[in-house]
Amino acid sequence: MQTVIDRNPATGKVLAEIPGATLREVQAAVSQARAAQPAWAALAPEARREALLAAAQTLAARKEELADTITQEMGKTRRSALGEVEGYLAGLERKTQEVVEAIAPQPFEGAEDEAVLVRAPHGVVAAITPWNFPVGMPLSILIPALGTGNAVVFKPSEEVPLTGAILHQALAQHLPDGVLTLLQGAGDVGAALVDSDVDMVGFVGSRATGSRIMAAASNHLKRMVLELGGKDPMIVFADADLEAAAECAVTHSLRNTGQVCCSVERVYVAEAVAERFEALVLEKARDWKHGDGFTESSRMGPLVSETQRNKVHQQVQEARAEGADVALGGELPEGPGYFYPATVLTNVRQDQRITQEETFGPVVALTRFSGEDEEGIRLANDTLYGLGANVWTGDEERGRRVAAALQAGQVGVNRYLAGAPGSPWVGARQSGFGFRGGPEGHRQFTTPKTISVARPSS
Ligand code: ADP
Repeated sequence: MQTVIDRNPATGKVLAEIPGATLREVQAAVSQARAAQPAWAALAPEARREALLAAAQTLAARKEELADTITQEMGKTRRSALGEVEGYLAGLERKTQEVVEAIAPQPFEGAEDEAVLVRAPHGVVAAITPWNFPVGMPLSILIPALGTGNAVVFKPSEEVPLTGAILHQALAQHLPDGVLTLLQGAGDVGAALVDSDVDMVGFVGSRATGSRIMAAASNHLKRMVLELGGKDPMIVFADADLEAAAECAVTHSLRNTGQVCCSVERVYVAEAVAERFEALVLEKARDWKHGDGFTESSRMGPLVSETQRNKVHQQVQEARAEGADVALGGELPEGPGYFYPATVLTNVRQDQRITQEETFGPVVALTRFSGEDEEGIRLANDTLYGLGANVWTGDEERGRRVAAALQAGQVGVNRYLAGAPGSPWVGARQSGFGFRGGPEGHRQFTTPKTISVARPSS
């Protein structure tokens, strides 16, 4: 299948050329996983946890190499690459323990029987993952999938094959043969994997691909957890702490060069404070200099690819042609690499593509609104998506009321969104199907099964 050409997005230079797995290799990986899975599932959950924690130690020992590879392959700053690896590993003790507890058998006492609810793994899980968090996203599927007793065939994104290979190698050396296999390749390999004899697809990526996976998985009613894109709104009411809200808007529109599924993609600011708020945003966004991720002063690396940069620039240009004002950025920088400057748009309209479609780029898109609760809610809910949202107001009750009316999986009030520990990460509406994280999320990698034993008749 298609050869993967891995480029450094800061220079455009080719890092590696990796042949995509053949159909035969896809089938072989799945067969190997199928053969290895029963013995893996038969281990005590604690034993699986021990293996995963040993793998985490190997990852920790290789964290500098991982961070270098991430920055080379997808461009994010070296500091945030290391932060991603360390951040995920820091939570692993707790997460793996949570997986063990989530699948503990639950006894039920009936009048005529003694029953137990167990959580059986699905069997073989295809893990198909994106490039924006090339360690965090794969682990968020691999850990619960493996921890609950599935075997996994892992296909990292074609933008980050070298990071994927390190991740696979570090984990697989602590697991029995075949329990975790790696397939390199692009979407054609992903599609072949979904079509193969797998029982479940764990996917993080775009809504369009999620929809294709859902269609393909319908034949055999394969299980799936899909985490898709977002178009997260932020509502700033006139009584908000504007300084803090502007900081949040800028940080979470520009972080990772805007390539975050739960980026702030739309900001609705009350007319009464809009001028002040826009000035604050502009001042803060000016500090977000782009540059090579290995350079200490860069706050943003390049976008991951030329395609991604063209998409972002097209949306910005279209918005400008339709009447939005470009207060900052919006021009393609000269020189090599796929850099895009921090961009601030004002007077963005609700019917524009930049308001409706995911941008995935370093753009703060500002729209003024009346400042009424109902209007803010209506605008925020006016997309297909429903990943995150945040609301800023000096009136906490109002914040709670508006949060309750927003169609999103996680909403922050006077803060950026963040799930409480143990809560699942949810894509409402077309931002996802199923969810990950927390006991409920881990259980999605299993099927509940009840075994009921008759009591001896007396
Ligand atoms: P993005 O490139 O924005 O991360 P994609 O949804 O295109 O989003 O890619 C996410 C992952 O899905 C990648 O690993 C990619 O190779 C894979 N992929 C792309 N198309 C398909 C498909 N039709 N079936 C399965 N996986 C796919």
